Amino acid sequence: MTALSVVVPCFNEQGTLTELHARLGDVARELGVADSLEIVLVDDGSTDDTLQVARALAAQDPRVVVLRLSRNFGKEAAMLAGLRHARGESIAIMDADLQHPPELLTSMYTLLRTTEVEQVVARRDRADDPFVRSQLSRLYYRLVNGLIETVRIQDGVGDFRVTSRPVLDALLALPERNRFSKGLFSWVGFPTGTVSYRNVQRGSGRSGWTLRSLLNYGIDGALAFNTRPLRLLMHLGGWAVLAALGYLLWLLVGYLLHGVTQPGYITTIAVITGLSGVQLLAVGVMGEYVGRIYQEVKARPSYLVHEVIRGEEGQDPGPG
Ligand code: UDP
Ligand code: MG
Repeated sequence: MTALSVVVPCFNEQGTLTELHARLGDVARELGVADSLEIVLVDDGSTDDTLQVARALAAQDPRVVVLRLSRNFGKEAAMLAGLRHARGESIAIMDADLQHPPELLTSMYTLLRTTEVEQVVARRDRADDPFVRSQLSRLYYRLVNGLIETVRIQDGVGDFRVTSRPVLDALLALPERNRFSKGLFSWVGFPTGTVSYRNVQRGSGRSGWTLRSLLNYGIDGALAFNTRPLRLLMHLGGWAVLAALGYLLWLLVGYLLHGVTQPGYITTIAVITGLSGVQLLAVGVMGEYVGRIYQEVKARPSYLVHEVIRGEEGQDPGPG
């Protein structure tokens, strides 16, 4: 039986995997789950030696399973692949770059085991962040939470969490392809506990995120959960119509009092450009939703597994 599965999406992480593995081993020993631990390393199409390092770890430690995806599918897909393969009674998800300190699992796992909570999320405090950076993230979370109605996403909460089997099963039962895990884990609910930790720099290599991918991630977050942006547009349209009516009334009164005075060239241009802007925006937002429907309807898998690598002794222990 596997007590704890640790799922680790890895994209070009050759520099940290060995240390991560060693530290996870120590944590498991401390928790008394050293013999019922499973480490699922998902190689998300890395272009460096991540696969070789992972393979070596699997060869020397039967608790390591390596899932090699056929190409880079992105972190969300890599996490999903790992979660589907995890067999543990409790499941941890963490980054490979040591930004999620493995030692924190001790308190997270203990909290999960000893209290009523079914999920434990790690929350990074922003004490060490530069001022601008922390203000920006705060703004981001306010924006996202303003747009999302059903779930709340907490500042500093990332993808570092430990959940119980029922929570994971609930999550895996969600059929959607376009995944935004932070929100989905919050959407499934269940009593949730939080453990705080100090921010750490990357162990090695560099972050795969660019400003552009972060922005896109934010848009995904806002659109994945509801149709509130559509409603906002409706409000905007409503106000535009009201303003137009008011203006028309004003013109009419002017006409009745003074007759036709000027041709109103500037207003015409202003109204046309303003309204077409609103329309373009509206079409864009609707297009986003239509695009998502298209993605879901195509029903392509989120990832493809090229190879599952286990150590010699680790030959298929069977489910559960
Ligand atoms: N990751 C991945 N596929 C990707 C990009 C990232 O599996 O396409 C993994 C990466 O190896 C790491 C985690 O996702 O374990 C977080 O990535 P990163 O450190 O680049 O993001 P950040 O910490 O800056 O949010
Ligand atoms: Mg990182």
